[in-house]
Amino acid sequence: MPENYDLHCHSTASDGALSPTALVQRAHEHGVTSLALTDHDTVAGIAEAQTAAIETGIHLIPGIELSASWQNKCFHIVGLGIDPDYPPLREATLNLQIMRTERAEKIAAKLEKKRIPGALEAVKKAAGDGMITRSHFADFLLSQFHVSTQQEAFDRYLGAGKAAFVPTTWSDLELAVSWITGAGGVAVLAHPLRYKLTASWMKRLLAAFKEVGGLGIEVVTGRYNADEIKIVAAYATRFELAGSVGSDFHNPANPWVELGRIAPLPEHIKPVWELLS
Ligand code: AMP
Ligand code: MN
Ligand code: MN
Ligand code: MN
Repeated sequence: MPENYDLHCHSTASDGALSPTALVQRAHEHGVTSLALTDHDTVAGIAEAQTAAIETGIHLIPGIELSASWQNKCFHIVGLGIDPDYPPLREATLNLQIMRTERAEKIAAKLEKKRIPGALEAVKKAAGDGMITRSHFADFLLSQFHVSTQQEAFDRYLGAGKAAFVPTTWSDLELAVSWITGAGGVAVLAHPLRYKLTASWMKRLLAAFKEVGGLGIEVVTGRYNADEIKIVAAYATRFELAGSVGSDFHNPANPWVELGRIAPLPEHIKPVWELLS
């Protein structure tokens, strides 16, 4: 059977809808042979996913998707092949959980001012022990009929500059990458086209990312079309970054994104899995 990699997805440890076990099983059903669990700012789902992967017979790559700040903008750095017990990374995730809870309180207060009460209780309940994200707020706004899609929740309330947006300073890019490399992992810039950078800013970002030890870039995600893949592949070549592929799966209810349903990595790009031991 050919290898089939999906190196970016989320479980209930962050804003995914499936438990780590259900996620691993679904990945297997969709033909994934190597899956990286990359929850936002947490490694809490990895132990369960590892157990499920052994039972299911797929290869589980321990991962994370860290929120990082660079030039006052938030970027997502996927760490692949990390040791989830690396103490500085553990400590970072504990701090990030506190940051996310405090941020959630501020988002809820802003919503309250817009006469939308009850958000904090709802997102805390939905997130359980996991990380609270803006996706949880979007789900709450949807369930209360304040918006009719997740996208509308971001456009009206949660997105940058909108009514309930809380500017957050995440860890510095260099620090975030150091937690990943210190944990024995490979740092990959996630969904590079989602930040809406101009070409010159993208080049500055990639130069800075390489400078601090970044080794990979997500050339293929669940939502990229052929043209977008070409654009990112050109950056990978130019900056000598290995290419990653990941669906960024969150929820089976989203018909557009499925585990393992991703275009192949262009053949001239060095696969990031060759860097994983
Ligand atoms: P956070 O890390 O708490 O800021 O939440 C970010 C998460 O919200 C992302 O990982 C996505 O899952 C989701 N998200 C961000 N922007 C959008 C958007 N425009 N539409 C739908 N979901 C989004
Ligand atoms: Mn997410
Ligand atoms: Mn992301
Ligand atoms: Mn993601």
